[in-house]
Amino acid sequence: MPEASDRAALGIFGGTFDPVHFGHLRLAEEAADSLGLERVRWIPAGRPALRDSPEVSAEQRLEMVRLAISGNPRFELDSAEVNDARPSYTVPTLERLRTTDEFGPQRPLVLLVGADAFSGMAGWHRWESLFDLAHIAVAHRPGFPVNAASLPTQVAAAYQQRLSSSPAALQDAPAGRIVTFAMTQLAVSATQIRTLLLNGRSPRYLLPEAVIAYIQSTQLYSKR
Ligand code: ATP
Repeated sequence: MPEASDRAALGIFGGTFDPVHFGHLRLAEEAADSLGLERVRWIPAGRPALRDSPEVSAEQRLEMVRLAISGNPRFELDSAEVNDARPSYTVPTLERLRTTDEFGPQRPLVLLVGADAFSGMAGWHRWESLFDLAHIAVAHRPGFPVNAASLPTQVAAAYQQRLSSSPAALQDAPAGRIVTFAMTQLAVSATQIRTLLLNGRSPRYLLPEAVIAYIQSTQLYSKR
């Protein structure tokens, strides 16, 4: 029998984080609390597969996440994707984690996504393999309803088949379930922050002060 601590679910949180903001931080913090996650591993994408190249380097996005999560004992940073020149895809990332001793094949892994990202999931590389590798926890996000009627057909089918009403179900298997969770609704986005900065407006109180100081010292997001 594995020890209880070997079985506790771990959160996986990937994103572009261009830049990281309080919507991301509250999502991860509230997921850890409401889903009983031992830790949340943040994985900034190196070359994000599904969007244009970000306006700052992968190393700079990584550094901003490092500053944002520093001091939170439940958060940890994974720089492997940033150091990989290939496009970042979620399924190969999860396969990589499953081959490590720390994660192994049995540990419940919970991929954290916002409702907008979940809705677009059928466009991900080998997306159906995802459920062999992890659970998915979908955070509500303003403007993106999560229900079968408003999801694309393929995602709606997976949602109906795999939805579990209790987060406890995540601890019972390594992968394969979908749960949703409520979080403090924050209509902040990285796009909004980039636009504010481009227009010389203040992004204060939308992201951590340490990240703002980094952006200012490196003059990120100030040019088109
Ligand atoms: P952009 O505006 O550049 O598209 P973003 O703010 O959506 O960026 P991402 O790095 O693309 O940030 O998002 C990483 C993950 O965080 C995604 O799963 C996304 O759905 C989720 N997320 C981002 N902002 C919020 C928010 N305000 N509330 C809930 N989830 C969010």
